[in-house]
Amino acid sequence: MSLMTDEKTTAGPEGHEKRLVVLAGPTAVGKGTVAAAVRNDHPEVFLSVSATTRKPRPGEVDGVHYLFVSDEEFDAMIAGGELLEWATVHNMARYGTPRGPVEKALAEGRPAMLEIDLQGARLVRETMPEAIFVFLAPPSWEELVRRLVGRGTETEAERERRLETARVELAAEEEFDVTIVNHEVHQAADELVTLMTLGLPSK
Ligand code: 5GP
Repeated sequence: MSLMTDEKTTAGPEGHEKRLVVLAGPTAVGKGTVAAAVRNDHPEVFLSVSATTRKPRPGEVDGVHYLFVSDEEFDAMIAGGELLEWATVHNMARYGTPRGPVEKALAEGRPAMLEIDLQGARLVRETMPEAIFVFLAPPSWEELVRRLVGRGTETEAERERRLETARVELAAEEEFDVTIVNHEVHQAADELVTLMTLGLPSK
């Protein structure tokens, strides 16, 4: 189902979970860029900051883009039940959503968003089935490949791994409540915020 902004929408959410949007989609589709647009254009939205064991890229700020932690620290977060979900992504590093800040935002009635991988989205579906699961799709496969190659921050082997992950992830679209095509980041961000505040369009 694609999101039509002129469709009738359901009434505002009753439960906390309806205000939570889980954004997933293939590698390099631009989830991070769309999340950054939500952060910039809609400061009222709570954006979860994931913990990760990968090293920061140039320009990434600890506590803003990710919580950069050691393997031991990540193990301790799992053992302490601090993560809502976690996954190993691209067989490279672990990523997880700290539970406390998300629950606090939802309890305060603040719209919230997680930008996570497909495995993580499936886990959240089990624990928070009322969340709205959004698949961010590329305009085309060719565009996705262009973005993957264009980013240039990965080695050849890592790029191959990411392409393979993307093939599998594209096939998962049907598991999601809504697809947003990432034609333009600010428009995609606006569509996400509409979902958080108004819920899913009625069928
Ligand atoms: P990157 O290393 O390029 O920032 O992110 C790699 C992948 O990890 C992306 O697909 C991103 O959505 C995913 N990711 C980021 N944070 C989390 C998280 O907290 N949990 C899960 N499961 N995946 C995450």
